[in-house]
Amino acid sequence: MTGTILITNDDGIYAEGIQMLCQALFPPAESLRYEMLVVAPNHEQSAVGHAITMHRPLRAEKVRFLHNPELEGWSVNGTPSDCVKLAVEAILTAKPRLVISGINHGSNLGTDVLYSGTVSAAVEGVILGIPALAVSLTEGDDFSYAVDFIRRLLPHVLQTRLPAGTLLNINIPAGGTHRIKGVKATVLGRRRYRNAFEQRTDPRGRVYYWLAGELVEEKGGEGTDVQAVMDGYISITPVYFNLTNDSFLPELEKIVDRLP
Ligand code: MN
Repeated sequence: MTGTILITNDDGIYAEGIQMLCQALFPPAESLRYEMLVVAPNHEQSAVGHAITMHRPLRAEKVRFLHNPELEGWSVNGTPSDCVKLAVEAILTAKPRLVISGINHGSNLGTDVLYSGTVSAAVEGVILGIPALAVSLTEGDDFSYAVDFIRRLLPHVLQTRLPAGTLLNINIPAGGTHRIKGVKATVLGRRRYRNAFEQRTDPRGRVYYWLAGELVEEKGGEGTDVQAVMDGYISITPVYFNLTNDSFLPELEKIVDRLP
């Protein structure tokens, strides 16, 4: 087994989650032979979704990891998706064998995956034909259990052929061994927010809005990632992007046939 594991995130290359992940995965264990490359945004890019940069130049600056002087890293003035694209199409000479995005500070569950820079970086990986993991710590900032879990999961992921276009969205609750009850394979649930915008007035008397939605705690639904995390389990969801609703096609065809 050889090839490169590409690491990125949306919290920025200096965030604790990505730094701890790099320290845990590099250098690789004797049994696992891989190279590793880190290409991540130079500042926080959470909730930028799948945005890419087209109207200004991208710059990549070499970063030195004090704990891992052997590890190659690049800090980019772009989005998580930019980082994956740039790494695959400009920095690396061969396609990486895996993209890992994270470990994000905060959960990426249910419908929130569409806003998530963390998940979007993994999506960019699968668009480019590379298997990918998106990894998030749902609360707190103790990444030790989460990085250990990914280190233990990695050999299994490298041995499994993920279906084309599919990434694994992994959410790890806080609390480590004492509180985490196990691991569940899940489907994406739904997340709802209340009072999404606060309306305020600025010092010059003009109204402005600030997104401040508070999560509505509700049952996630049987088998969902939301419910699994609420119940204290690590959630792993195989996510793929088939955005076509096939079940509506026959009816749509009838409508199309009636059109002049
Ligand atoms: Mn983030």
